[in-house]
Amino acid sequence: MIKLPSQVAEYFPYDSVRPHQDEFITTVYNAVSSRRSVLIEGSNGLGKTISALSACLPVAIEKKLKILYVARTHRQHDRVIEELRAVFRKHQISGLSIRGRNEMCLNVFASRGAFDSKSLMEVCELLKAKSRCPYYTNVEERTYDYMQLQQQVASRPYMGSEIQRICKKKEVCPYELVKAGLSDVKVIALSYLYVFDPVIRTAFLKNLETELQKIILIVDEAHNLPETAISISGSTLSLFVMRAAEMEANRFGHKDIEEFAHFFRTEVEKITDKISREEIIPASNIIEIVQKQGNIARPREFFEHMHEAGAAIKKSLLADGKNPRSYVHAMSEFLLKWIDTVDDDSFINVASQYFNKENNKTAKLEIVALDPSKVTQPVFSSTYANVIMSGTLQPLEAFARITRLPESTVKFLVPSPFPKEHVFSAVCLGVTTSMEKRTPQMYRTMVERINEVVNSTPTNTGIFAASFQVLNALLAEGLENALLKPLFHERKGMTSKANEKMVQDFKACGDKGGAVFLGVQGGRTSEGVDFPGNQMNSVVVVGVPYAEPTPRVKAQIEYYDKRFPGLGREYGYILPAMKKASQAAGRPIRTLEDLGAIVFLDYRFSTSYCKSFLPSWITNGMKILPDKKDVLATEVSSFFRAQS
Ligand code: SF4
Repeated sequence: MIKLPSQVAEYFPYDSVRPHQDEFITTVYNAVSSRRSVLIEGSNGLGKTISALSACLPVAIEKKLKILYVARTHRQHDRVIEELRAVFRKHQISGLSIRGRNEMCLNVFASRGAFDSKSLMEVCELLKAKSRCPYYTNVEERTYDYMQLQQQVASRPYMGSEIQRICKKKEVCPYELVKAGLSDVKVIALSYLYVFDPVIRTAFLKNLETELQKIILIVDEAHNLPETAISISGSTLSLFVMRAAEMEANRFGHKDIEEFAHFFRTEVEKITDKISREEIIPASNIIEIVQKQGNIARPREFFEHMHEAGAAIKKSLLADGKNPRSYVHAMSEFLLKWIDTVDDDSFINVASQYFNKENNKTAKLEIVALDPSKVTQPVFSSTYANVIMSGTLQPLEAFARITRLPESTVKFLVPSPFPKEHVFSAVCLGVTTSMEKRTPQMYRTMVERINEVVNSTPTNTGIFAASFQVLNALLAEGLENALLKPLFHERKGMTSKANEKMVQDFKACGDKGGAVFLGVQGGRTSEGVDFPGNQMNSVVVVGVPYAEPTPRVKAQIEYYDKRFPGLGREYGYILPAMKKASQAAGRPIRTLEDLGAIVFLDYRFSTSYCKSFLPSWITNGMKILPDKKDVLATEVSSFFRAQS
């Protein structure tokens, strides 16, 4: 007998609930039905997607609201549609998982040529205006087939990939079909940018024909949100773009802009030549240089002039059937943002040197945002209610304060649904990646401990190092030779395609005697890939992934310290590191049936302070193992033996 509020039971499509799933659902329903937001941590395997949906649907139906479900990956978006299909058996709820125009566009000229979503939008608009996109012409002619498609999309849950397939067959634009259907659909699964990027949100809400007040927002994998919000607000200008702007201005006869771009690049080169890696530069310095040495009395006016010239260049390129890429435009947008943020202490300006793809040393200027709440708060304070959820959100109070969730937000930690005997977790004393203790001997001891775990694990083991420096040190101290199973390891700068292939090959070894994967915490594998079943039986978290104390990291700590006195280091330094460690540690345990050994190779994880940032399903029953050979091997072996 399931104990759920009767309104929710109407929509919950399954005959039974998982352990503690009812607590999750009831908490969300009670909050949302009283128009409050909820911040909730629940581990993998709990069924958070269907829980959040079935708790929000009765409110959305009664109050005539839409549900926006934001998540990071297409897989997560499609999962929402799969769950809605299960609900559909009880109630006919429509839903769409949507992708960006650049992924949906069928026109090869437009999609291959445009270098960002904005220029694709411009190419698309031009093609449409000149009736040069056959996929749009078919939409305009609104054939019987197209009308039927529109009705179909609004009638039941569809995935973005399905819409693309159908539209390809019928030769109509999938993006236009989705756009037309948005206002009729109840649940939409989409990326963070649609909601949190103010420019994209404005256009999206227009297509949706609604406002934030009429939306229940569900944010999945919300631990990513502060970082995403910060990257949305930032901006970068490289020497490459400055050089390209100079050449472009010359080509289009803008002598004044050409001279300015040349002067500005030379000045930036002078600044960046003097720094070792990165340095914070006062925003006003650049403005003064522009005014005094560049002889530009009113920089804003000049940058606006550049902006207009850039827009004209884009138009002229479009008219010639070329892609509307303007470096003058890109440079002016950056410089205008620089001026707009000059007196805002939630931004810093950074000059840095780096190596480009060709491995050549170059430099860039950056506007770095320090306050994620500037992006999140306008959304959270405007929606009907927010459901903010993830498996790693502790401490909830810190997340709520950093993102400025409404004061009335309900905060709840759902107990772990995993049977205790399914998870082994331990911290090894005597090892650490703490800077002053990084010696060859320390790494050799770590290699020994890793080997103990690998040899005691039935099949696959994942190792996630605190950084590439630690990863390379483990390799230098003979990790590969010490192992009896094949090793797959990440490399800095590896393409996502090569990484994906390597992960697939590693996963396949789960049924063929096992292998070892070596990656970094905070990397694409440790945060974005699931390893259920035999794809990863054990995981070793090597070291605490504290960020290098670069000027921007120090500025972040100082900024938070001003906003939250005494908590700057915790919010700006400790918390991001512990999130990365928690994410890596959770890789092998994705479903209630999974078994996993989680080993932390750094004594600092045994302190109650560090443990307070890890999810309770990991810290419950966590063992602290002495600095002794073979103790780890015995513990891990007996855990897996007990399960066989
Ligand atoms: S109308 Fe559709 S298919 Fe044509 S260019 Fe625009 S997005 Fe691409």
